[in-house]
Amino acid sequence: MSSTSTSPAIVVLGSLNMDLLMRVPRAPQAGETLLGRSLQHLPGGKGGNQAVSCARQGAAVTLIARVGRDADGDALCAALSADGIRLDAVQRDDTEATGVALVMVEDSAQNRIVVIPGANLTVTLDEAVFAQALQGAGAFVTQLESPLSVVLRAVALAQAAGCPVVLNPSPMQPLPDALWPQIDTLVVNEVEAAEYTGLPVADGIGAVAAARALMQRGVRRVVVTLGAQGAVSVDAQAAVWHPSLKVQAVDTTAAGDTFTGALAVALARGAALPEAARRGIRAAALCVTRPGAQPSIPHASEVDAMPE
Ligand code: ATP
Repeated sequence: MSSTSTSPAIVVLGSLNMDLLMRVPRAPQAGETLLGRSLQHLPGGKGGNQAVSCARQGAAVTLIARVGRDADGDALCAALSADGIRLDAVQRDDTEATGVALVMVEDSAQNRIVVIPGANLTVTLDEAVFAQALQGAGAFVTQLESPLSVVLRAVALAQAAGCPVVLNPSPMQPLPDALWPQIDTLVVNEVEAAEYTGLPVADGIGAVAAARALMQRGVRRVVVTLGAQGAVSVDAQAAVWHPSLKVQAVDTTAAGDTFTGALAVALARGAALPEAARRGIRAAALCVTRPGAQPSIPHASEVDAMPE
Protein backbone atom coordinates (compact mmCIF):
# COMPACT_ATOMS: atom_id res chain seq x y z
CA MET A 1 0.00 0.00 0.00
CA SER A 2 1.34 3.46 -0.85
CA SER A 3 1.83 5.61 2.24
CA THR A 4 0.04 8.51 0.60
CA SER A 5 -2.82 6.70 -1.13
CA THR A 6 -5.39 8.30 1.16
CA SER A 7 -5.40 11.10 3.69
CA PRO A 8 -7.28 9.75 6.72
CA ALA A 9 -8.65 12.07 9.39
CA ILE A 10 -7.20 11.45 12.85
CA VAL A 11 -8.17 13.05 16.17
CA VAL A 12 -5.46 13.34 18.84
CA LEU A 13 -5.99 14.28 22.49
CA GLY A 14 -2.88 14.92 24.55
CA SER A 15 -0.14 17.02 26.04
CA LEU A 16 1.90 19.89 24.61
CA ASN A 17 5.20 20.84 26.24
CA MET A 18 8.04 23.15 25.41
CA ASP A 19 11.15 20.98 25.80
CA LEU A 20 14.13 22.87 27.21
CA LEU A 21 16.91 20.64 25.92
CA MET A 22 20.09 21.28 27.88
CA ARG A 23 23.32 19.57 26.84
CA VAL A 24 25.74 19.06 29.72
CA PRO A 25 29.00 17.13 30.11
CA ARG A 26 27.43 15.33 33.09
CA ALA A 27 24.61 15.94 35.57
CA PRO A 28 25.61 18.25 38.45
CA GLN A 29 25.91 16.85 41.97
CA ALA A 30 23.73 18.30 44.75
CA GLY A 31 24.97 21.83 45.50
CA GLU A 32 27.25 21.88 42.43
CA THR A 33 27.19 24.42 39.57
CA LEU A 34 28.63 23.49 36.20
CA LEU A 35 28.70 24.97 32.73
CA GLY A 36 26.42 23.42 30.15
CA ARG A 37 27.11 23.25 26.42
CA SER A 38 23.83 24.51 24.90
CA LEU A 39 20.14 25.16 25.51
CA GLN A 40 17.45 24.67 22.87
CA HIS A 41 13.69 25.30 23.06
CA LEU A 42 12.06 22.49 21.06
CA PRO A 43 8.35 21.59 20.71
CA GLY A 44 7.39 18.36 22.48
CA GLY A 45 4.77 16.64 24.66
CA LYS A 46 3.38 13.21 23.79
CA GLY A 47 0.14 14.58 22.33
CA GLY A 48 1.97 17.08 20.14
CA ASN A 49 4.55 14.51 19.07
CA GLN A 50 1.93 11.93 18.08
CA ALA A 51 -0.12 14.60 16.25
CA VAL A 52 3.00 15.66 14.31
CA SER A 53 3.85 12.06 13.48
CA CYS A 54 0.32 11.49 12.12
CA ALA A 55 0.40 14.76 10.13
CA ARG A 56 3.82 14.01 8.61
CA GLN A 57 2.48 10.62 7.49
CA GLY A 58 -0.19 12.50 5.53
CA ALA A 59 -3.18 12.43 7.90
CA ALA A 60 -5.55 15.36 8.44
CA VAL A 61 -5.10 15.85 12.18
CA THR A 62 -7.34 17.62 14.70
CA LEU A 63 -5.61 18.15 18.05
CA ILE A 64 -7.33 18.60 21.42
CA ALA A 65 -4.91 20.07 23.97
CA ARG A 66 -4.34 23.07 26.24
CA VAL A 67 -1.53 25.58 26.54
CA GLY A 68 -1.09 28.79 28.53
CA ARG A 69 -1.65 32.26 27.15
CA ASP A 70 2.10 32.78 26.88
CA ALA A 71 5.04 32.79 24.47
CA ASP A 72 5.64 29.02 24.77
CA GLY A 73 1.97 28.38 23.90
CA ASP A 74 2.28 30.67 20.87
CA ALA A 75 5.47 28.93 19.72
CA LEU A 76 4.00 25.43 20.11
CA CYS A 77 0.85 26.37 18.20
CA ALA A 78 2.90 27.97 15.42
CA ALA A 79 5.00 24.82 15.06
CA LEU A 80 1.95 22.54 14.97
CA SER A 81 0.20 24.81 12.51
CA ALA A 82 3.24 24.65 10.22
CA ASP A 83 2.61 20.88 10.08
CA GLY A 84 -0.96 21.54 8.96
CA ILE A 85 -2.53 20.37 12.24
CA ARG A 86 -6.02 21.80 13.00
CA LEU A 87 -5.81 23.77 16.23
CA ASP A 88 -9.45 24.93 16.66
CA ALA A 89 -9.74 22.62 19.69
CA VAL A 90 -6.47 23.74 21.32
CA GLN A 91 -7.51 25.67 24.42
CA ARG A 92 -5.72 28.60 26.12
CA ASP A 93 -5.48 28.77 29.91
CA ASP A 94 -5.43 32.28 31.39
CA THR A 95 -3.71 31.28 34.63
CA GLU A 96 -1.71 28.06 34.08
CA ALA A 97 1.47 28.27 32.03
CA THR A 98 2.22 26.08 29.02
CA GLY A 99 3.72 22.70 29.99
CA VAL A 100 7.51 22.56 30.13
CA ALA A 101 9.92 19.62 30.11
CA LEU A 102 13.45 20.23 31.32
CA VAL A 103 15.55 17.67 29.46
CA MET A 104 19.18 17.35 30.53
CA VAL A 105 21.27 15.23 28.15
CA GLU A 106 24.73 14.19 29.34
CA ASP A 107 27.64 13.53 26.96
CA SER A 108 27.05 9.86 27.75
CA ALA A 109 23.57 10.33 26.08
CA GLN A 110 21.92 9.63 29.46
CA ASN A 111 18.70 11.69 29.86
CA ARG A 112 17.28 13.33 32.99
CA ILE A 113 13.83 14.85 32.53
CA VAL A 114 11.54 16.93 34.76
CA VAL A 115 8.06 17.80 33.43
CA ILE A 116 5.95 20.68 34.74
CA PRO A 117 2.55 19.83 33.18
CA GLY A 118 0.93 23.28 33.71
CA ALA A 119 -2.01 23.82 31.37
CA ASN A 120 -2.02 20.17 30.26
CA LEU A 121 -3.74 19.33 33.55
CA THR A 122 -6.64 21.73 32.94
CA VAL A 123 -7.61 20.54 29.45
CA THR A 124 -11.34 19.87 29.11
CA LEU A 125 -13.40 17.98 26.54
CA ASP A 126 -15.97 19.99 24.59
CA GLU A 127 -18.16 17.02 23.66
CA ALA A 128 -19.91 18.75 20.75
CA VAL A 129 -16.57 19.75 19.19
CA PHE A 130 -15.18 16.27 19.81
CA ALA A 131 -18.21 14.56 18.24
CA GLN A 132 -17.83 16.72 15.16
CA ALA A 133 -14.11 15.98 14.89
CA LEU A 134 -14.77 12.24 15.16
CA GLN A 135 -17.11 12.25 12.16
CA GLY A 136 -15.32 10.35 9.42
CA ALA A 137 -12.14 10.00 11.50
CA GLY A 138 -10.12 6.83 10.93
CA ALA A 139 -8.67 6.78 14.46
CA PHE A 140 -8.68 8.52 17.83
CA VAL A 141 -5.19 8.59 19.35
CA THR A 142 -4.42 9.44 22.98
CA GLN A 143 -2.00 8.90 25.90
CA LEU A 144 -2.06 9.53 29.67
CA GLU A 145 -0.41 12.95 30.03
CA SER A 146 -3.88 14.57 30.17
CA PRO A 147 -6.25 14.18 33.17
CA LEU A 148 -7.42 10.56 33.33
CA SER A 149 -11.11 11.55 33.62
CA VAL A 150 -10.86 13.47 30.32
CA VAL A 151 -9.06 10.60 28.58
CA LEU A 152 -11.60 8.02 29.81
CA ARG A 153 -14.56 10.12 28.66
CA ALA A 154 -13.00 10.76 25.25
CA VAL A 155 -12.21 7.06 24.75
CA ALA A 156 -15.79 6.09 25.66
CA LEU A 157 -17.25 8.67 23.24
CA ALA A 158 -14.91 7.66 20.41
CA GLN A 159 -15.73 4.00 20.85
CA ALA A 160 -19.46 4.71 20.98
CA ALA A 161 -19.09 6.74 17.76
CA GLY A 162 -17.42 3.75 16.07
CA CYS A 163 -14.00 5.43 15.80
CA PRO A 164 -11.13 2.98 16.53
CA VAL A 165 -9.19 4.01 19.64
CA VAL A 166 -5.37 3.83 19.63
CA LEU A 167 -4.18 4.18 23.23
CA ASN A 168 -0.55 4.65 24.30
CA PRO A 169 -1.05 4.35 28.10
CA SER A 170 2.02 6.36 29.07
CA PRO A 171 3.05 7.38 31.68
CA MET A 172 1.85 4.21 33.39
CA GLN A 173 -0.98 4.62 35.92
CA PRO A 174 -3.70 2.36 37.31
CA LEU A 175 -6.58 2.09 34.82
CA PRO A 176 -10.17 0.90 35.31
CA ASP A 177 -11.11 -2.57 33.97
CA ALA A 178 -13.87 -1.01 31.86
CA LEU A 179 -11.32 0.83 29.71
CA TRP A 180 -9.60 -2.16 28.09
CA PRO A 181 -12.52 -3.44 25.93
CA GLN A 182 -12.87 0.05 24.46
CA ILE A 183 -9.35 -0.07 22.98
CA ASP A 184 -8.88 -1.13 19.38
CA THR A 185 -5.05 -0.95 19.41
CA LEU A 186 -2.84 -0.60 22.50
CA VAL A 187 0.78 0.54 22.09
CA VAL A 188 3.05 -0.01 25.12
CA ASN A 189 6.80 -0.08 25.58
CA GLU A 190 8.39 -3.00 27.41
CA VAL A 191 8.37 -1.27 30.80
CA GLU A 192 4.67 -0.42 30.52
CA ALA A 193 3.83 -3.92 29.24
CA ALA A 194 5.47 -5.38 32.36
CA GLU A 195 3.87 -2.87 34.73
CA TYR A 196 0.33 -3.26 33.35
CA THR A 197 0.47 -7.06 33.40
CA GLY A 198 2.91 -7.93 36.19
CA LEU A 199 4.71 -10.22 33.70
CA PRO A 200 8.46 -10.05 32.92
CA VAL A 201 9.01 -8.43 29.50
CA ALA A 202 12.69 -8.64 28.53
CA ASP A 203 12.32 -9.99 24.99
CA GLY A 204 9.86 -10.81 22.23
CA ILE A 205 8.52 -13.93 23.96
CA GLY A 206 7.73 -12.03 27.15
CA ALA A 207 6.21 -9.21 25.10
CA VAL A 208 3.85 -11.61 23.30
CA ALA A 209 2.76 -13.12 26.62
CA ALA A 210 2.06 -9.64 28.03
CA ALA A 211 0.18 -8.66 24.87
CA ARG A 212 -2.01 -11.78 25.14
CA ALA A 213 -2.71 -10.97 28.81
CA LEU A 214 -3.86 -7.48 27.80
CA MET A 215 -6.04 -8.97 25.05
CA GLN A 216 -7.68 -11.20 27.64
CA ARG A 217 -8.83 -7.99 29.38
CA GLY A 218 -10.64 -7.01 26.16
CA VAL A 219 -8.10 -5.02 24.11
CA ARG A 220 -8.52 -6.04 20.45
CA ARG A 221 -4.83 -5.91 19.47
CA VAL A 222 -1.54 -4.94 21.09
CA VAL A 223 1.87 -3.68 19.99
CA VAL A 224 4.79 -3.85 22.43
CA THR A 225 7.77 -1.70 21.43
CA LEU A 226 11.16 -3.04 22.51
CA GLY A 227 13.55 -0.16 21.84
CA ALA A 228 16.50 -1.22 19.69
CA GLN A 229 15.03 -4.75 19.55
CA GLY A 230 12.03 -3.53 17.52
CA ALA A 231 8.43 -4.43 18.40
CA VAL A 232 5.94 -7.28 18.51
CA SER A 233 2.40 -7.01 17.17
CA VAL A 234 -0.30 -9.37 18.41
CA ASP A 235 -3.88 -9.73 17.19
CA ALA A 236 -6.32 -12.61 16.84
CA GLN A 237 -4.57 -13.73 13.62
CA ALA A 238 -0.89 -13.62 14.49
CA ALA A 239 1.93 -12.68 16.86
CA VAL A 240 4.78 -11.17 14.83
CA TRP A 241 8.20 -9.88 15.86
CA HIS A 242 9.42 -6.90 13.84
CA PRO A 243 13.18 -6.30 14.31
CA SER A 244 14.25 -2.65 14.37
CA LEU A 245 16.31 -1.25 11.51
CA LYS A 246 20.05 -0.94 12.18
CA VAL A 247 20.75 2.79 12.45
CA GLN A 248 23.15 5.07 14.31
CA ALA A 249 20.92 6.23 17.19
CA VAL A 250 21.76 9.68 18.59
CA ASP A 251 18.59 10.53 20.58
CA THR A 252 15.60 8.24 21.15
CA THR A 253 13.31 11.07 22.35
CA ALA A 254 9.87 10.72 20.67
CA ALA A 255 10.72 7.32 19.13
CA GLY A 256 7.63 5.77 20.73
CA ASP A 257 5.42 8.71 19.71
CA THR A 258 6.73 8.58 16.14
CA PHE A 259 6.00 4.85 16.07
CA THR A 260 2.46 5.31 17.44
CA GLY A 261 1.59 8.06 14.94
CA ALA A 262 2.89 6.15 11.93
CA LEU A 263 1.12 2.97 13.10
CA ALA A 264 -2.18 4.81 13.61
CA VAL A 265 -2.12 6.38 10.15
CA ALA A 266 -1.31 3.05 8.49
CA LEU A 267 -4.18 1.37 10.38
CA ALA A 268 -6.54 4.20 9.41
CA ARG A 269 -5.54 3.59 5.77
CA GLY A 270 -6.65 -0.01 6.17
CA ALA A 271 -3.33 -1.76 6.76
CA ALA A 272 -3.28 -5.01 8.72
CA LEU A 273 -1.57 -4.76 12.14
CA PRO A 274 1.81 -6.29 11.14
CA GLU A 275 2.07 -3.99 8.11
CA ALA A 276 1.21 -0.95 10.26
CA ALA A 277 3.80 -1.99 12.87
CA ARG A 278 6.49 -2.23 10.18
CA ARG A 279 5.63 1.31 9.12
CA GLY A 280 6.09 2.37 12.76
CA ILE A 281 9.47 0.60 12.92
CA ARG A 282 10.75 2.43 9.85
CA ALA A 283 9.51 5.85 10.99
CA ALA A 284 10.95 5.37 14.50
CA ALA A 285 14.31 4.24 13.10
CA LEU A 286 14.62 7.58 11.30
CA CYS A 287 13.51 9.48 14.42
CA VAL A 288 16.31 8.06 16.60
CA THR A 289 18.98 9.25 14.13
CA ARG A 290 18.08 12.91 14.87
CA PRO A 291 18.05 15.02 18.07
CA GLY A 292 14.96 16.48 19.77
CA ALA A 293 11.29 15.50 19.85
CA GLN A 294 9.17 17.03 17.06
CA PRO A 295 12.12 18.10 14.86
CA SER A 296 13.20 14.44 14.65
CA ILE A 297 9.87 13.03 13.40
CA PRO A 298 10.11 11.98 9.73
CA HIS A 299 7.80 12.73 6.80
CA ALA A 300 6.08 9.97 4.80
CA SER A 301 8.40 10.43 1.81
CA GLU A 302 11.46 9.79 4.02
CA VAL A 303 9.85 6.67 5.47
CA ASP A 304 8.93 5.46 1.97
CA ALA A 305 12.63 5.68 1.07
CA MET A 306 13.69 3.47 4.02
CA PRO A 307 14.38 -0.23 3.38
CA GLU A 308 11.60 -2.70 4.23
P1 ATP B 1 10.55 7.02 23.95
O1 ATP B 1 9.96 7.11 25.34
O2 ATP B 1 12.05 7.20 23.88
O3 ATP B 1 9.82 7.83 22.93
P2 ATP B 1 9.47 4.36 24.06
O4 ATP B 1 10.08 3.82 25.32
O5 ATP B 1 8.03 4.71 24.08
O6 ATP B 1 10.33 5.52 23.46
P3 ATP B 1 10.86 2.36 22.52
O7 ATP B 1 10.40 0.96 22.63
O8 ATP B 1 12.13 2.74 23.22
O9 ATP B 1 9.64 3.28 22.90
O10 ATP B 1 11.10 2.74 20.98
C1 ATP B 1 10.01 2.79 20.07
C2 ATP B 1 10.47 2.25 18.73
O11 ATP B 1 11.56 3.07 18.27
C3 ATP B 1 11.02 0.85 18.77
O12 ATP B 1 9.98 -0.12 18.63
C4 ATP B 1 11.94 0.85 17.57
O13 ATP B 1 11.19 0.63 16.41
C5 ATP B 1 12.46 2.28 17.54
N1 ATP B 1 13.78 2.37 18.17
C6 ATP B 1 14.07 2.70 19.45
N2 ATP B 1 15.40 2.65 19.67
C7 ATP B 1 15.97 2.30 18.48
C8 ATP B 1 17.31 2.08 18.04
N3 ATP B 1 18.36 2.22 18.86
N4 ATP B 1 17.50 1.74 16.75
C9 ATP B 1 16.47 1.59 15.89
N5 ATP B 1 15.17 1.78 16.25
C10 ATP B 1 14.93 2.12 17.52
